[in-house]
Amino acid sequence: MSELSDLKVPGPTTIALTEPFWAAAEEGRLILQHCRSCDRSVFYPREICPHCWSGGLEWREASGQGRLKSFSRIHRPGHPGWAPVAPYVVGLVELAEGPTMLSHILADEPEVGMPLELAPTRIGGRVLPCFRPQFHHQEEKTIMSDTKPKDGWANVTRGKPSVGDTAERSRKTSMDDIHAFTAMTGDRNPVHYDEELAKKTPFGKLVVQGGITTGILNAVVAEDLPGPGTVFLNTNFNFKKAVGIDETIIGRVELTSVRDDKPICQLACTVTNQDGDVCVEGTAVTYTMPLENL
Ligand SMILES: [Zn+2]
Repeated sequence: MSELSDLKVPGPTTIALTEPFWAAAEEGRLILQHCRSCDRSVFYPREICPHCWSGGLEWREASGQGRLKSFSRIHRPGHPGWAPVAPYVVGLVELAEGPTMLSHILADEPEVGMPLELAPTRIGGRVLPCFRPQFHHQEEKTIMSDTKPKDGWANVTRGKPSVGDTAERSRKTSMDDIHAFTAMTGDRNPVHYDEELAKKTPFGKLVVQGGITTGILNAVVAEDLPGPGTVFLNTNFNFKKAVGIDETIIGRVELTSVRDDKPICQLACTVTNQDGDVCVEGTAVTYTMPLENL
């Protein structure tokens, strides 16, 4: 199926709501929203739970297991970009978690009811969460059973962290931060410099640039958790409250998932102020490169 990767086809449209889903897909993972109120899974991504209208949805790793509910063999694609690989199969996959998802089915002889598993596939420059019959997996497992699984955390300074690990650090903001950030970026927004004007804005005070606030999270991941060698692959931050000058901010990360085969982590991130108000809340995906034995 290597020709799939060469296709010139339109990709998914990513918005803030769906961004975590596509970022995970790019890493070959499938994540679904899960409702904290009614304990059910949700797909496609939404702002509120379609079962109980709760806003308490969180992203969770899906099992990647499912069942083929129905399928179509496409001979005449709706977009000419797909023509080189026609006929191909698309189907409705009933995921083990409950929701149904439309996806490509990598099967020559699909059958309704057949067990499927996630098969991340590069199509037209993007990794899409496709599915394939489960027995391929069993065959592969048999072949691979004699080889040791790859340790993605070999030679990483702090080693592999664990889900639930947390780290935080704090610092005090200053006018010097604002000047330094302007020197770096050219951001000379008057809300950072004109005190009279800033008082009339919803902030009611001079505020530091958002990059200064989130910057503390750069320090936490690079110094503490996962530690030296860490860079962000993806960040998704909501700015809830502006941070002023001479305020103490606390950046905190909590590890929500970690891969074995690659030094990639998912983190829940917050920045709070000295009063405990949440100023920034979001998620990040990090990559920690080995710095030893280079
Ligand atoms: Zn619900």
